[in-house]
Amino acid sequence: VLCVSQDFDFFYFVQQWPGSYCDTQKKCCYPTTGKPAADFGIHGLWPNRNDGSYPSNCDPSKPFDPSQVADLTKNLKSDWPTLACPSNDGIQFWTHEWDKHGTCSALDEHSYFEAALSLKSKVNLLQALTSAGINPDGGSYSLSNIKGAISEAIGFTPYIECNVDTSGNSQLYQVYLCVDTSGANLIDCPVFPRGRCGSDIEFPSF
Ligand code: 5GP
Ligand code: 5GP
Ligand code: 5GP
Repeated sequence: VLCVSQDFDFFYFVQQWPGSYCDTQKKCCYPTTGKPAADFGIHGLWPNRNDGSYPSNCDPSKPFDPSQVADLTKNLKSDWPTLACPSNDGIQFWTHEWDKHGTCSALDEHSYFEAALSLKSKVNLLQALTSAGINPDGGSYSLSNIKGAISEAIGFTPYIECNVDTSGNSQLYQVYLCVDTSGANLIDCPVFPRGRCGSDIEFPSF
């Protein structure tokens, strides 16, 4: 049996804060299924190499097929909601993530989405933050306290990606954790992405 080789070393499991996707100049649109919960949502599970490079769009012969994840659709809608415009049910986002990243994962489509959903259910970022007094209230929090709260609760140090709101404030946008090539287990990140936040960042409401 010909087997697609695993040309990566680990995954980034990336979650996005919806408030920070929506309060930028680009704006957002709620999915056709309604406003998502005020919680982190999955952005993706991205194969990555230890040198920082990553493969993408590895197998055009396996385009996203919604029927393969029919049993997961309910959970995808709640835990992997799209905020891009124009409003849609999410299939466009899941298609993009599968085609670009999932086809490089060496997992089949169902296993890939199941792995991401399972990680999300094990990693409660909002609870990690709020139990440390870091709330999505528009307040400013120190980056090191945010990272410390997540490390304490999850057991692994995250990378925080910031973006900028319409007033120019740096804010908590995405949280990266690292996962082994099976897609099942969190690991210490072999390498962190590049990019800066300020030492204090906003945590906007949603
Ligand atoms: P951006 O340009 O917004 O940082 O990233 C655009 C897209 O490139 C991301 O949504 C993701 O698909 C991909 N990407 C960016 N950085 C990384 C990375 O460090 N690793 C992987 N695997 N993909 C990335
Ligand atoms: P990336 O290549 O950065 O993994 O994925 C970003 C792509 O997914 C963009 O084309 C973006 O328009 C689309 N997309 C759809 N819904 C979302 C969403 O909720 N968040 C982000 N970051 N991108 C989304
Ligand atoms: P240190 O790792 O020494 O605390 O931080 C060194 C520099 O890297 C600081 O400028 C800090 O803002 C930045 N930094 C540390 N952790 C992160 C992170 O998770 N995300 C981003 N964007 N920058 C970080």
